[in-house]
Formats: sequence, structure tokens, C-alpha cells
Amino acid sequence: MNNTELKERIITLKNELHVSIVAHFYQKDEVFDLADFAGDSLQLAQWAALDKNPFLVFCGVGFMGQSVKILAPEKRVFMPKIACCAMARMIDADYFDANVQLLNEAGIPNENILPITYINSSAEVKARVGMMGGYVCTSSNAKKIITQALKSNKKIMFVPDRCLGQNIAKEMGLKACVIGDGSDPKNADILCYNGFCSVHQLFDVEDITFYREKYPTILIVTHPECKPEVCDQSDFVGSTSQIIEYVAKLPLTQKVAIGTEYNMIKRLRKENTYVLSSTKPECPTMNETTLEDVYNTLLSIKEERFENEIQISEETREWAFKALNRMFEL
Ligand code: SF4
Repeated sequence: MNNTELKERIITLKNELHVSIVAHFYQKDEVFDLADFAGDSLQLAQWAALDKNPFLVFCGVGFMGQSVKILAPEKRVFMPKIACCAMARMIDADYFDANVQLLNEAGIPNENILPITYINSSAEVKARVGMMGGYVCTSSNAKKIITQALKSNKKIMFVPDRCLGQNIAKEMGLKACVIGDGSDPKNADILCYNGFCSVHQLFDVEDITFYREKYPTILIVTHPECKPEVCDQSDFVGSTSQIIEYVAKLPLTQKVAIGTEYNMIKRLRKENTYVLSSTKPECPTMNETTLEDVYNTLLSIKEERFENEIQISEETREWAFKALNRMFEL
């Protein structure tokens, strides 16, 4: 079946079965174009939780589908591919506990630790954070959540992205350390788990130097999952949605080099837009989802085989919901 036929069959099945399809900004064009709604991870979870259709096909990575299920447990959420975010996979409940233990051994007891997890984490990690009275954050609201959390006078344990933690700490004039790197966590305000995004690690200061030498007036735009030294040299650092907004406001004659996922950059604008890397920064797991996968998922719903459905235990969901909801309350 070619792509045009696949698309027609997908649309027919989707309408017949009352299914909504959502896609993250990093999805391939062929999948992205099919979606009823496209957005970043938080926008997708919020849109999907309010959507009236009982079935949702989520084109993204696992933690995103889980976020919908946490917010709207009655909804049946399916992933065309069980694709995992590499960063989210760097931590599970056991690793979380082991890092809390390291902090305890360094002289910081549980009652002095307030955890914050980036939304790019599994439901079980969000649940651990919820149990300890902590918050979920996104890259656009991390500063606000950390500001609130600091009022507790506790140490902030930030998981899983060390770069986001370090970048926000720097912006706020706070001290960050990476847990287990040999430094004393008692001397830092934000204690970061040693996780990272393999895609955003691709951007280097050398790439910025290259573009600035080639085009002296170029603007450099990066995501806060990039290394701190890269963000330091950027003209603008923002979340996926903030980057879209920023670039949309630039005059078309303004050259811009962007350090984030490739599929999103190429949809932004054609003129004067450069990828801040000589290596194509595609998110490999986001790119796993194909039209055929979407079609097969719809077929499994029709035939009541219900493949790749997101399942979370009610106990995990309730604790994870607490951490997510504390973010919404702010
Ligand atoms: Fe995860 Fe990085 Fe891919 Fe985003 S780009 S889904 S953080 S691996």
C-alpha cells in the first residue's frame, strides 16, 4: 500500500472508530500531517485529556502517552510504536531511590529533599516524585516551579536532565551539582541526576563559532536540554513552543541557526534557517513511528486486539497525578 492509500484508510478508520490522533512536533511529516492536534508534550497531554473521543492514538514517545493516561484514566491511549525517550529511559524507580540514598549518605535526609522531575520521565518516576511532595516541570515552566520549590528551604533534586537543571540554576544564580560527580551536594541548591538527551547533546560551541564566523549577524537559538556552555553562547534559549514563537517573529531576512530536533526545525521556515550541527539531529525513537504503524494501531482497535495500549497501575497513576497536578496548580 502506498502512502496516499494508507492515509485514506487511516482517515476512514479514524472517523469510523471515533479515534483522535495527536503528534509531537518531532514526528516525521507524513505522521505529523495526519494529526488532529500537534504540540509539545504538555500541550498534547492537556489537549488529549479534554478530547471527547474515547480512543487516542499518540504519535510520540512513551512518557507522553503515559501523561495523558495520568490525567485522563478513562481514556484508552495507544502508541503506534512503543518508542521510548532515551532521556526518560535513563532513570527508573530504582535509580531514583539509589540517588536519594546517595544524597542521604552525603548528609541530606529525605525531609530536606524536594524532587522535581522534568516531564520527560516515566509514570513510575513521576510517582516517586509525587510521594515525596515534589513537582513535574516542563522546559518552559522549570524556572517557575524551581522558584516555588525553593520556598520550602529544601535541596532540589532535579531528574532526569542534568543540562536543564544546570541551565536553569545558572539563569537563576543558583549553584548546581551532578549527583555522584564527587562534589559535595550540601554546597549546591539544585542536585541534578546524571541524565541527558542524546539529540540535544549533539550541539557544540564549535558549531556556534562556525556559524558566527560565516554569518556575523546570525542568531543562535537552542533548547535548554543542550549543554550549558552551548546555551551560554546562544541568543535565545527556549522550549519547543518558545522556539517556534521566537522564530515566527523574526524577519525573514534574519539568519538563524537552531539547536533542537531536525524534523521540527525543517518545518519552521525555509529561508535563512540552519541546523546548528553537521550531524542530522533527529530523535531516533520519535522517528520510529510510520504511517503503517498508525494504520495497524487503528486496525487493532477495530478488531478489538488493542495492541500497544498504555497501562498504568492505579497506585502509580495517583501518585504521578499528584506531582503533575502540583505543576498545574502553579
Ligand atoms: Fe527524548 Fe531527546 Fe528524543 Fe526529546 S529529543 S524525546 S528528550 S531523546
